[in-house]
Amino acid sequence: MWWLMRYSEEQIVWQEVPGETSLAYTITGCDIGCKGCHSTHTWPLNSGELLSVEYFKTRLNTYAGFISCVLFLGGEWHLDTLKTYLRIARKQGLNTCLYTGLETPPPALLPYLTYVKTGPWMSSRGGLADRGTNQKFIHVKTGEVQNYKFWS
Ligand code: SF4
Repeated sequence: MWWLMRYSEEQIVWQEVPGETSLAYTITGCDIGCKGCHSTHTWPLNSGELLSVEYFKTRLNTYAGFISCVLFLGGEWHLDTLKTYLRIARKQGLNTCLYTGLETPPPALLPYLTYVKTGPWMSSRGGLADRGTNQKFIHVKTGEVQNYKFWS
């Protein structure tokens, strides 16, 4: 069913959202089709494990006091479902982040996001650590582009 989100990876990560310890879900079904995508195995919509609300809440409880943020790598194509999960995370006092390949994230998600990474993967421009990248890491409330956090 199209509204059910599925994920291929669940990880604790530190680099993707600087200054945060994030519980990250790679959501399956991206149809942006970036040339050189490193995650083509996640493209089929029905691949991966179901991310049920019950399971998600259980994981937030498991990591309570350890994580400070929940990161979704994709999932904006499940607009209302993703909004629900972001709201659950925010209600628990967590920051939230979405990595999207879109240039502009869906406006309906912005009230529930602390950070958003925008832009497709372009191998000639590199990722957030590259100063010539097309991608932007944005603090949503202030609108500040914070790519500098990825520069060493
Ligand atoms: S947005 Fe990400 S997952 Fe989707 S095709 Fe581009 S690099 Fe791959």
